[in-house]
Amino acid sequence: MKFDQLKLIPPILRAAADEGYTAPSPIQQKAIPPALEGRDVLGCAQTGTGKTAAFAMPILQRLSARKPQPGAPRVIRALVLTPTRELALQISDSFKAYGHYLRLRTAVIFGGVSQNPQVDELRRGVDILVATPGRLNDLIGQGYIDLSRVETLVLDEADRMLDMGFIHDVEKIIARVPQKRQTLFFSATMPESIMRLCDRILTDPVKVAV
Ligand code: AMP
Repeated sequence: MKFDQLKLIPPILRAAADEGYTAPSPIQQKAIPPALEGRDVLGCAQTGTGKTAAFAMPILQRLSARKPQPGAPRVIRALVLTPTRELALQISDSFKAYGHYLRLRTAVIFGGVSQNPQVDELRRGVDILVATPGRLNDLIGQGYIDLSRVETLVLDEADRMLDMGFIHDVEKIIARVPQKRQTLFFSATMPESIMRLCDRILTDPVKVAV
């Protein structure tokens, strides 16, 4: 299969070509079409399978279809939760790469560093926020973040987020995003605790495993 069979728009196909991608990986082939349609996706996939593009490309495409009016403030319309600083940085770099030809802004926040530059970036307005749950909750508590306009929520490496004790942070964050939204959920393993979380936060998901 080729990328251009996935109904991705030319700016994203061009960015994929710039990255040197010739064919979509199996998780991309299976997850991109339903995600582009706005369906919820439950993906069982490890890091290294290309799962970042599987959620980032559809998000970029859907957001670029409705860009903010020139001059209008940008609001967070996509939120990606991921367990570690390294993953958060990788994911935000991927959004920037795949969105190179689109005018969307991505910000990344994580703990263990000063929050001031992160707050400054948020104040400038972002479309896509990639975050670790603890720092995100801190900033929500301080009133810096409005999640009421989130259209797509991604839980990346959900099993690791639960193993790292982030469940309460994740629950609090989910309570702040609209119930009517798209949810893209990725986990390398599917233990009982993960299945229960999926049951609560996904609506009629398309299940994909690689
Ligand atoms: P991920 O699982 O999203 O962390 O991606 C793992 C690695 O695969 C990253 O270095 C990506 O740049 C790369 N990658 C993702 N999709 C493709 C693709 N379709 N073809 C070649 N490499 C890819």
